[in-house]
Amino acid sequence: MTVRLSVGYSVLTALCLLLTLSFDMRYAICDIQYSTFDINQPQADSPCPLPLATLTLSFMKILFAGTGTSSGVPMIACDCDVCCSDDPLNRRMRASVYLEVEGQCIVIDTPPDFREQCLTHNLRHVDAVVFTHAHADHILGFDDIRRFNTVQKSRIPAYAASGPMEDLHRIFDYIIGNEEIGVYRPKIDFCEVSCEFRIGDVVVTEFGVKHGPKPTSGFLFEGDGVRFGYVPDCLEMGDDVVELLKGVDVMVLDALRYNPHPTHLTVDNSVKLLERIGAKQSYLTHLGHDLEHKTLAQALPDGIQPAYDGLCVSI
Ligand SMILES: [Zn+2]
Ligand SMILES: [Zn+2]
Ligand SMILES: [Zn+2]
Repeated sequence: MTVRLSVGYSVLTALCLLLTLSFDMRYAICDIQYSTFDINQPQADSPCPLPLATLTLSFMKILFAGTGTSSGVPMIACDCDVCCSDDPLNRRMRASVYLEVEGQCIVIDTPPDFREQCLTHNLRHVDAVVFTHAHADHILGFDDIRRFNTVQKSRIPAYAASGPMEDLHRIFDYIIGNEEIGVYRPKIDFCEVSCEFRIGDVVVTEFGVKHGPKPTSGFLFEGDGVRFGYVPDCLEMGDDVVELLKGVDVMVLDALRYNPHPTHLTVDNSVKLLERIGAKQSYLTHLGHDLEHKTLAQALPDGIQPAYDGLCVSI
């Protein structure tokens, strides 16, 4: 009798253990799925509220490290309402994006604020740098890439079209020149690109846009089935480029101010181009101190928003 009871109790205990384990496994799976949730989606209270099939995976992360024009916002010695605003959405470092896709961490442009952007967003790894053009507000933080050489114990490739590459070679000639003992400088493999190239499994397409007198690139990044277009400095865009970018998942485009400018798009012209491109989500960047964030956001059509420093878009 005692033996039978003991066996029965053991079987019961084993069953309870199995049930407990199976519940734990279920929640573990749910936890794993949560870690890949789209950060823009609200999460429900219960630990596993949705069937797994309805959960969305995040494949590409676009972090806006800077969204300001060349002077940054606030501008030095300016007392306008936007420059004096307390709203952090009106504080803009110079334009740059940190892109994560297909296991690659790609920095697009290294503005003078690059070091501060890395510290602000705790950026720990850079697989590649891509330059849109060689204006000071897009390149003058490049020297700080050397810290990633040290941390990663590796050289880092930097990609640019032939025109910007010529300027990069001239401005950063000390990076290319012979090593000097005791001088700490970036270890870079400069790669001149045109049209389509690859960074790991990411397919990148370079295209020209009209901006200043010097050549300026925009880029289309494609990876994990997601398409992202980035054009931070632009006055005009050709029909062929609009066609190339049509229907991308995320499009980011220059919009300096409301009034015309000789080298940048106005808000109105940027919106017109974005409507032709028809991205699923569109963002304005390279914003000047004429643009108050909330006022601009309220005036824009559905699907188009002003970007802001620290905005992270997961697709
Ligand atoms: Zn610029
Ligand atoms: Zn101002
Ligand atoms: Zn520029």
